[in-house]
Amino acid sequence: MIKVSHLTKNYGNHVAVDDISLDIKPGKIYGFLGPNGAGKSTTMNIITGYLAPTSGEVLIDGHDIYKEPEEAKACIGYLPEIPPLYVDMKVSEYLKFVCELKKVKKEDRDKEVERVMNLTKVSDVSNRIINNLSKGYRQRVGMAQALIGSPKVIILDEPTVGLDPNQIKEVRDLIKSLAGDHTVILSSHILSEISETCSHVFIIDKGKIIANNAIETLSNYFNSKQVLEIVAKGDMDKCKEIIEAIEDIESVSVEKGAEEGTVNITVTATYSKDVREDVSLALSSEKISIFEMKEDTKSLEDVFLELTAKEEE
Ligand code: ADP
Ligand code: MG
Repeated sequence: MIKVSHLTKNYGNHVAVDDISLDIKPGKIYGFLGPNGAGKSTTMNIITGYLAPTSGEVLIDGHDIYKEPEEAKACIGYLPEIPPLYVDMKVSEYLKFVCELKKVKKEDRDKEVERVMNLTKVSDVSNRIINNLSKGYRQRVGMAQALIGSPKVIILDEPTVGLDPNQIKEVRDLIKSLAGDHTVILSSHILSEISETCSHVFIIDKGKIIANNAIETLSNYFNSKQVLEIVAKGDMDKCKEIIEAIEDIESVSVEKGAEEGTVNITVTATYSKDVREDVSLALSSEKISIFEMKEDTKSLEDVFLELTAKEEE
């Protein structure tokens, strides 16, 4: 549906987007995840034709966004970081105006405005001036304008920024409901947002794609390393030595426990090994009692931090 090849954008000496290539298939929800300044908005602005790249190519449903901008843009609904709202207009007036821009047939415009207002739950403010709306409502009007004409591709730049938890849930549910009929790309610097909404994630950092995976792949990969938090009674160095001698242990760290004579031990196993039994047998065979053992699975949040930190090195 979207093919991005070797996209680069320089601002002076600063490389904001660095040789990004993406292949986006129809009907799925894709997430651009990355810290602030990673290059998400710049990439989205280029894909939607708002910004020219320094080099590279973008094809939307086979149309080059620069050589055939009309055809390409007709496939896209875009909610930029700062929604392009005409704040002096009433909500319904503005949406009708967007219908005109998007070349919705005159006789279909009222119905289309009605449809997107229902989807984004802004019908109750349809006669209000946009300037007087709360941040949450403005954002939803921004979503509504992106949905007009039911474009094949919907691109949303940080769509839930500034919304309260209830509104966030509504926007996420709306985005999920768009999958299938639409290809959706949304950006966020918040991992949970991407993992809850998207089926595929591109992690962007410093203008580069550092991960390109199905959400399950990413979380499985990192969750497969078992981490155990253990409280044991015994000598600290002895505990470390015993556990280190076990097969499939990647690392062991020890510190003094809260209770007199106890040790807090953190054990990381190598990929996909469950070492609970080996660890408990090894310790008890040396007469070290285990007071507590719990499994600490890595969250996607850790994955994200780990990946972006790796880039730092
Ligand atoms: P994100 O959306 O991921 O937060 P951006 O795409 O907005 O990141 O920005 C990527 C990088 O490009 C940042 O370092 C930012 O400071 C820089 N940048 C963005 N727009 C401009 C601009 N118009 N002029 C100069 N630098 C810019
Ligand atoms: Mg941004």
